[in-house]
Amino acid sequence: MEPAQIEVIGVTKRYTGGTVAVDDISLKIPAGTYCCLLGPSGCGKSTTLRMIAGHESISEGHIRLGDTVVTDLPPAQRGTAMMFQSYALFPHLDCTDNVAFSLKMRGVDKTARRARALDMLKLVQLDHLAERRPAQLSGGQQQRVALARALITDPQVLLLDEPLSALDPFLKIRVRQELKKLQLQLGISFIHVTHSQEEAMALADLVVVMNQGKIEQAAAPREVFNRPSTAFVAKFMGDHNVLAGRVTTVDGAGVQFEAPGGISFNAPAKDLQPGQPIEIAVRNDRVKIGQPPRKGCGMTGLVQNVEYHGQKVQVSLSAPGVDDFAVQLPETDFFSAPLAIGDAVPLTWAPEDVHILKSSVA
Ligand code: ADP
Repeated sequence: MEPAQIEVIGVTKRYTGGTVAVDDISLKIPAGTYCCLLGPSGCGKSTTLRMIAGHESISEGHIRLGDTVVTDLPPAQRGTAMMFQSYALFPHLDCTDNVAFSLKMRGVDKTARRARALDMLKLVQLDHLAERRPAQLSGGQQQRVALARALITDPQVLLLDEPLSALDPFLKIRVRQELKKLQLQLGISFIHVTHSQEEAMALADLVVVMNQGKIEQAAAPREVFNRPSTAFVAKFMGDHNVLAGRVTTVDGAGVQFEAPGGISFNAPAKDLQPGQPIEIAVRNDRVKIGQPPRKGCGMTGLVQNVEYHGQKVQVSLSAPGVDDFAVQLPETDFFSAPLAIGDAVPLTWAPEDVHILKSSVA
């Protein structure tokens, strides 16, 4: 099948009992996109995926795949295929019959479906194990069988629900590289649910950050990381400090605002009046330690914790009214002037490293 665009149009999911799992979301996923639905547990990622797959009914709104509205179509008629978290392989069938299963359901004869299954196993480099049963395969191999089984229906879009969650950290990285390669090779869209921002950034062309049933931001990984739309996104993506307060003064260059502890910061914000709330983000690696603070772009912080991360050292600090402030220093910089818990140090950043956040949907 030809790759096709997916359009989610004003979709809401209300479960019986009143939970609004997905709340009026709209999203366009261009054909041939690796899209990751990213967010904390319970934010509505799997429900969104299941509604696209047709495994969950839609309370309001529509889903379009290419020119077809698929909202009320059964899963097998949508042009989508789903790979489940548990792989859901049949233990009593060998790899070939597991992969061929959906063709059997469609009435394809045995020789044709087994030949096609073998092609799919070749695609995921598992043809040499075609006669094994799932119990005779490693976790990574089972995952590839599940992938081949989903791809045998020649879908326009492959849906993957936490496909890497059962794998150990080394295998995770290898399999995610294989997934990306496969997606590029097939040219179809993959929609991949994950709660790992690292996984989403490594894989996706389009990262969709969800929170409490809403989409907070949908953009390329670099955009989501460097220009998070909200404090939620900045905190969830990590490696950002969020400073919040109320505007005190407004001038040509922007505004000054005061955090709850009384420290004043500058922000190049437009269209704000004194008294209004504001939130900004500054990347952890853009904060300098030990240089005299610029007015409005710095403060004195008290070292609370030091974590060695290899290439970087992360120093957590506190200041009046400022929680969760962290600075990442290159390893060599840190060890040329090591810091200890309890040290009071000047912190500063460049005005151009201040990023204004919108108020969150939550
Ligand atoms: P995620 O995949 O982001 O962890 P889900 O889409 O699974 O989130 O769930 C979103 C919300 O919907 C959660 O509050 C969850 O408890 C609720 N939910 C999920 N499935 C059901 C269901 N079958 N019945 C009722 N509530 C559900």
